Amino acid sequence: MLNIGCHLSISGGYAKMGQTAAKINANTFAFFTRNPRGGSRSVPDPADMEALRLFLIEKAFAPLVAHAPYTLNLCSDKENIREYAEQVMTEDLRLLDALPGNYYNFHPGCHMRQGTEAGIRMISDALNRIMQPERKTVMLLETMAGKGSEVGGTFEELRAILNRLELEDRFGVCLDTCHIFDAGYDIVGHLEDVLDEFERVIGMDKLLAIHLNDSKNPIGSHKDRHEKIGKGEIGLDALAAVITHPSLRKLPFILETPNELDGYAEEIALLRRIYEPGRHQPASASGSPADPAAHLAEHDAGDESHRQTGGDRQ
Ligand SMILES: [Zn+2]
Ligand SMILES: [Zn+2]
Repeated sequence: MLNIGCHLSISGGYAKMGQTAAKINANTFAFFTRNPRGGSRSVPDPADMEALRLFLIEKAFAPLVAHAPYTLNLCSDKENIREYAEQVMTEDLRLLDALPGNYYNFHPGCHMRQGTEAGIRMISDALNRIMQPERKTVMLLETMAGKGSEVGGTFEELRAILNRLELEDRFGVCLDTCHIFDAGYDIVGHLEDVLDEFERVIGMDKLLAIHLNDSKNPIGSHKDRHEKIGKGEIGLDALAAVITHPSLRKLPFILETPNELDGYAEEIALLRRIYEPGRHQPASASGSPADPAAHLAEHDAGDESHRQTGGDRQ
């Protein structure tokens, strides 16, 4: 089964996100642990997080990909900004112990004219303080578009950070299709070559999640503007090749496209049809040798929306 979901709002709490995901036929999702523009968050209710933990097990969800606030900068030229980022990420990682086995994805940082090498050193030093052996979440460095002074716009820069990590096995990479296309990696014409390069520089064993986005801009523009699936410069065929690629097809795919919930539901349905043609064909299904897992997933999603209509007061 395709492991796919989208970014969901945490405003209704943790358990609510699980229910919303099931409603749109997602089996993973992403969320900001707090307001992405600021750093504040209300203290979460442990019972709410536990309810989500049990729900994820019951529904056999793929790992979630929580996202750190994108304003954090571990390699700022200002010490207080670096310290704040480190404090937030340390707190978030502790919080996520309540949802063990999921991912925490973050942007490596912007070096602010201090140079890429200095940035790499500051990021890895901070990560070595943030990640402790008792933590239960793997942290994912995101591939970046190389906008401004962003660190992580090349596979080499991500590898250089990983090389400096004491607990390297607690870290992986989240590949964003819009970002790497924007950074100049040609996933449209040469996906195989790009993946070969990822394997050679970083290692495919480090690739643990994918942000599936189309791009508003052409290859190499370093702009980082996401577009709806099939509506941008990457296009549906290239994104279909990503989700069905033998080395990628089992990873969790997260949509960060400019959509509301119904738009995400449509993209999820579209990508599921591409991933497993025939699975969602109408009629005749009752008598046909349908995939029992597919039937189960649809049945579960139906149950969930039923529960939602009955019990949702928010
Ligand atoms: Zn991101
Ligand atoms: Zn992303």
